Amino acid sequence: MEKKFRKIGILSSGGDAPGMNAAIRSVTRSAIARGVEVVGIVGGYAGLINENLKPLTEMDVSGIISHGGTTLYSARCNEFKYEEGMQKAIATCKKNDIDGLICIGGDGTFRGATDLSIRGIPCIGIPGTIDNDITATDYTIGYDTAMNTVIDLCDKIIDTSESHSRCAVVEVMGRHAGYIAIETGIALGAVGVALIEMPFDKEALFAKMNALRAQGQQSFIVIVAEGMGSEFGEALTKEIEERTGIESRFVRPAHIVRGGTPTLRDRSLASVMGDKAVDLLLAGKSDLVICSRNNEVIATDIKWALIVDRMFKDKLKDGDLDSFTQEQIDDMKALCAERRAYFENMYDIMLTIGG
Ligand code: ADP
Repeated sequence: MEKKFRKIGILSSGGDAPGMNAAIRSVTRSAIARGVEVVGIVGGYAGLINENLKPLTEMDVSGIISHGGTTLYSARCNEFKYEEGMQKAIATCKKNDIDGLICIGGDGTFRGATDLSIRGIPCIGIPGTIDNDITATDYTIGYDTAMNTVIDLCDKIIDTSESHSRCAVVEVMGRHAGYIAIETGIALGAVGVALIEMPFDKEALFAKMNALRAQGQQSFIVIVAEGMGSEFGEALTKEIEERTGIESRFVRPAHIVRGGTPTLRDRSLASVMGDKAVDLLLAGKSDLVICSRNNEVIATDIKWALIVDRMFKDKLKDGDLDSFTQEQIDDMKALCAERRAYFENMYDIMLTIGG
């Protein structure tokens, strides 16, 4: 017989992202509307281990849809990665009659969710990370807001670059993915974008900048993804000055880009994903992550999502594909090809129209 859910837990974990609150609100209201109680777990998996819980009513989540960050706090919790920590988390669920969990975060958070699911606590993941670095979904919650913050900041930087005839080299977040870099690079008319997914041709960049300066262009912007390494942006800035004679400044907005009011798109995505997560959890599903694919909100096995991510990032380990059918592996390969084509196409567009 299908298990009747009476109470579910919600947590946010890993790096915070604007729109996480919208997801918390959606999950809470969606569950209460279905007659299910909701408990907020404060501080991610650490809150589960330490039994830091707070019952959530509809009113508790009122007004948070427009707030960045996460009202349930987030934390990185190493203890949870080990069996002892995990057992403490399970004991908290059992003691407090938490029948299932919805976990908002990135791939680390989903690893935790799958570990709990395997041990009998049903979990559904919701992708919340500004980097959009979860291959299984087209969009993660927070990505759109972060990109809008980047272009807002860079538009301001461009004003002063123009006045002083300078080049600004701006490093944007994305330790493992260049989505923010390529999208904002195009939106800002950057003359160059450096990201791990594509080979970077420095000589071509210098030549293009020299040619544009000869035609009278005053200001330039180059976007660098964080994944290129901590020294890359500054070194490139120096080299641009040396090779083009254009005065250049390095800018690292860093965490400023993580906060702020979520955009319509992130609020909407979070609201729909939250509702879908509750729907699936109450229907008895577990070990899934909610994804947006081709404008449809679907659910994918967490394990599939984690492995396709490794495949795309060229980090597959021996045996990773052993438990999948050929059809599942073919689907992974097709998705990776789709993602690669996206980067190639966007990069091409940037090279053609940027400057
Ligand atoms: P994100 O979810 O944004 O990728 P992290 O990688 O920091 O962020 O993961 C968030 C939390 O998820 C960690 O602090 C830890 O509690 C849990 N977690 C991460 N990796 C694992 C793992 N391999 N097994 C179990 N839990 C994990």
